[in-house]
Amino acid sequence: MDLNALKLALGEEDPGEAMHALAARLYPLCRSITGNGVRQTLGILKEDLPLILHEVPTGTQVLDWTVPREWNIRDAYIKDASGKRVVDFQALNLHVVGYSVPVKARMTLAELRPRLHSMPDKPDLVQYRNSFYKDDWGFCLSHRQLESLKEGEYEVCIDSSLTEGGLTYGEITLPGSTPEEILISCHVCHPSLANDNLSGIAVAHQLARYLAKVPHRYTYRILFLPVTIGAITWLARNQDDLGRIRHGLVLSLLGDSGPMTYKRSRRGDAAVDRAAAHVLKQAGKGGRVEDFIPYGYDERQFCSPGFNLPVGCLMRTPHGRFPEYHTSGDNLAFIKPANLADSLATLLAILEVLEHDGVFLNLNPKGEPQLGRRGLYRAMADRKDGDWNEMSMLWALNLGDGKHSLLDVAERSGLPFGGIFRATEALRACGLMAPAGDIGKTKTGDG
Ligand code: ZN
Repeated sequence: MDLNALKLALGEEDPGEAMHALAARLYPLCRSITGNGVRQTLGILKEDLPLILHEVPTGTQVLDWTVPREWNIRDAYIKDASGKRVVDFQALNLHVVGYSVPVKARMTLAELRPRLHSMPDKPDLVQYRNSFYKDDWGFCLSHRQLESLKEGEYEVCIDSSLTEGGLTYGEITLPGSTPEEILISCHVCHPSLANDNLSGIAVAHQLARYLAKVPHRYTYRILFLPVTIGAITWLARNQDDLGRIRHGLVLSLLGDSGPMTYKRSRRGDAAVDRAAAHVLKQAGKGGRVEDFIPYGYDERQFCSPGFNLPVGCLMRTPHGRFPEYHTSGDNLAFIKPANLADSLATLLAILEVLEHDGVFLNLNPKGEPQLGRRGLYRAMADRKDGDWNEMSMLWALNLGDGKHSLLDVAERSGLPFGGIFRATEALRACGLMAPAGDIGKTKTGDG
């Protein structure tokens, strides 16, 4: 389970470019926590995935929340006295405060001013703002734009609607050989923001396409959710089945140029926490592991105390720690194909650990077995995957006492999990190791 295997399975020369192209296609859509922007986004993902769109009606009680009215927007602008659009939703959807109620009015600049939001400290950027749970309206514009507005009368229009509709989310189930699940989730509710939502969507989409083509042990449930209310809605509707979730990852902020960051689950010692820490350390690229805090993305909901699921969050630079965060600077140029590819490779490496970790027994534990006699040095010399060696085999054999998992071996040896796994596979092939659970069924006579 790695990037090369994915390229082969999908016939994709450059997964980074493919993910960036998907982000570019989704970028102009005006997403929010409800509405047609989310449906159009999921509709595009559905073109090559067995994605199911769920619609949950406005007013539905979900845990402590209620599904809100559905918000849609067709157009919005501020026109000056000459009829010129000085602020135009069609040019950038961030210009309208999300969930703005409809407005059609003429007003002076002084009257309009409290409705205009800019950032004096980032004068060229337009901020991203919402008013989800309070009837309000407003516009966001760059501080330079705001300062260039002349006194006088303006025509203001927000052609939006707030109606009884529904909340839409997407779900894919990719069955494995066990019904136990790995949960992957990303948010789909931000409008034209690339790192903060499109990068996670693009990585989850590419992962799902790959997992749909190759066999895997776990069943994967991949969720495309409006942040917070979407996760709460999904949890409310699936609370009886959460016991099947063994591991989980929330994906977000995967396209910027910072190093990878893994935020631990609330449990802190879940298998996914150990797997991610091992992968980031082995990569040697300055990846960071941080403790859980009850803030951030939907790990907040999955890790609320009543669920306490083993779900961490995989990202590059965490939210709020890059100046482009929640601004027009988080655009398609801000996310790079190479960073998306590196994030996907990291995700695959974590999943490889979860897929293949297990406890194996050395069937010849008294003294070292003779490796040369069994052709293992030849196999090592012929190997194409290149990440296992004599040390991987010696560690796998030495800790193959039924008490250590492969991840334990990798952590203690400081060697990559993939190498320990492939060395163990080679040792199994020549009868030197066997899964601890299968030992009763294995003949050990020829040690
Ligand atoms: Zn955000």
